[in-house]
Amino acid sequence: MTRTLEGDVIGTSGAFGKSKNTREKVYDNDEKTHFDGPAGDGVWAGMDLGASRTSRVTAIRYFPRESWPDRMIGGVFQGANRSDFGDAVELGRIAASPRPGGYTLLAVDCSQSFRYLRYLSPKGGWGNVAEVRFFGP
Ligand code: CA
Repeated sequence: MTRTLEGDVIGTSGAFGKSKNTREKVYDNDEKTHFDGPAGDGVWAGMDLGASRTSRVTAIRYFPRESWPDRMIGGVFQGANRSDFGDAVELGRIAASPRPGGYTLLAVDCSQSFRYLRYLSPKGGWGNVAEVRFFGP
């Protein structure tokens, strides 16, 4: 049994060219909308599950921005219990260009529970991703 982990959207504020393609687009259940961050490097979009709703992560799925799947190569998924991700644990890494126009499912094997989860876009990735979903037990 798995369930979708829900929480408040956190991450890098703003968007490229003051567009509406903000971090919320990563978690809006719409594969046609994507995050386009305000900078190329260090951009992330995550979720705060809340202090009383920490969870393990058993799987992650992601859907790349249309026409820009390569911008996810080198991106990582992390879990943390500090809001600055100073104690981040890597849950997964995107080694190759994800399949365009579809979801990629990543199994996660980690016994720790986390309050904060995020997708950290790689250098030059601009935060580009259409959808990310974290699943727990
Ligand atoms: Ca979306």
